[in-house]
Amino acid sequence: MAFIDNYNLEHVVNEAERLVHEELGLQLESYEGTICLCNDCVADMAAMALNTVKPLYRYTLLGTLWASSARSDAAYDASVREAVSGAIEKIRLNPSHD
Ligand SMILES: [Zn+2]
Repeated sequence: MAFIDNYNLEHVVNEAERLVHEELGLQLESYEGTICLCNDCVADMAAMALNTVKPLYRYTLLGTLWASSARSDAAYDASVREAVSGAIEKIRLNPSHD
């Protein structure tokens, strides 16, 4: 039996994913009609933004509601906004399809 089989790590989550997804939704609203919003492009944007921001792993059994109300980090939030806008711009100029 592997070491990892003795533990349940599903509640170790990267909060950056939720923050990036929320920010991506917000910022893409203003691009509607001017940018490709197919699944491939939006997934590329999310992946690119998530590779830019610092990971924000947490272990919580109380879920993301608790995490979102408990966290407050203006510098981190600014880094998320910057990563998302940079990713949108890069994929807009270089989509992975024609
Ligand atoms: Zn596309």
